[in-house]
Amino acid sequence: MSATRPRPTAAFVRVFGLPATTLASAPGRVNLIGEHTDYNDGLVLPTAIPQRTSVELALCDDGLVSVYSDELSRDGQPQSYRLGDEARQGDWLDYVRGITWALQQEGWARRLRGLRLHISSQVPVGSGLSSSAALLVSLLRGLRSALALPLSEVELARIARRAEVELVGAPVGIMDQLACALCGPGSALYLDTQSLAMQSVALPPSLDLIVIHSGVVHSHAAGEYRVRREECQQAAALLGVKSLRQLGVVDLATLAKLPEPLVRRVRHVVTENARVEEAVQALQQADGMRLGSLFSASHASLRDDYQVSVPALDRLVQLGEDDPAILGARLTGGGFGGSVVMLARAGESRVAAERIAHRYQVETGHNPTILVP
Ligand code: ADP
Ligand code: MG
Repeated sequence: MSATRPRPTAAFVRVFGLPATTLASAPGRVNLIGEHTDYNDGLVLPTAIPQRTSVELALCDDGLVSVYSDELSRDGQPQSYRLGDEARQGDWLDYVRGITWALQQEGWARRLRGLRLHISSQVPVGSGLSSSAALLVSLLRGLRSALALPLSEVELARIARRAEVELVGAPVGIMDQLACALCGPGSALYLDTQSLAMQSVALPPSLDLIVIHSGVVHSHAAGEYRVRREECQQAAALLGVKSLRQLGVVDLATLAKLPEPLVRRVRHVVTENARVEEAVQALQQADGMRLGSLFSASHASLRDDYQVSVPALDRLVQLGEDDPAILGARLTGGGFGGSVVMLARAGESRVAAERIAHRYQVETGHNPTILVP
């Protein structure tokens, strides 16, 4: 759903004293495999989750952008800024500032108007399921509809990324925005982030996905992400390649000249790209055993070579691996907390997810949330 007929909610009227005119939404996403590859020009395989971020908005001629988030507005009051005054403040409103700023940069300044905006989301924030891109894409969909902007989903994703990288200041790749703009249920998006070639791959009915949020959020995730990104750039420079995508598995032998931890970082990226290609074949052949073992290999690589796991995620993955209904499990998203994706035999996923989440809670004391199924 991109935009529907006006359907103002009571919350919008209560906060802003006028009805909303436009409603739009976008889903969160779960990346099946291909982690920390998108900023290395690599391969990824995300799909949509059922949870969505919704926005409702009304245009106003006063040049004021006033925003209320069900999740993050603290005192029940909207927060505001003036169009043209977008500057990074380090708060959640930066995501909205980023969108109005990016649209101005893209040449839409004269179309933009003041805004009343209500955000409400089912995508847990900071859980590796891309609440950020779901927010950016849903807001762009709402503005596309309200301002009659002739923008495709791919253009929305590009503008969303521009907002996140340049105004919010998060040096992210293009996967999340494209996934939230293009993914639907029942299929995964096989995306080459170098060429932007895309292919939809059906999820076979014999396999189910499970997504469990570990209940752990690591406050250093953004800093660690930046360090990994810089390590990859450093390794590419030392190896004389534009990006790590230019290395194949056969090049692994040449890595010996790199210092630690760069050898490990490159080994993860190169083998992870290969695993994405294999995973697509496994999905096309409905080969759950092979896909499951690729999930497991990906987790081991993220834990040992890329070093972005934490004990709680390792434990949740291990409980999945030990469960008879599960074919493979891995952390999904940037790591240091967040969620785990598991592959299950069809029909067994709900019971298995509850069993695993219960054991995890008893053992670790953390509070898991089952998001899929
Ligand atoms: P993830 O995308 O994995 O959930 P990020 O750190 O990339 O985690 O993005 C989370 C940030 O996005 C939040 O800290 C907040 O700034 C913004 N955000 C996400 N959802 C909402 C929301 N419903 N309301 C306001 N801001 C949101
Ligand atoms: Mg994000």
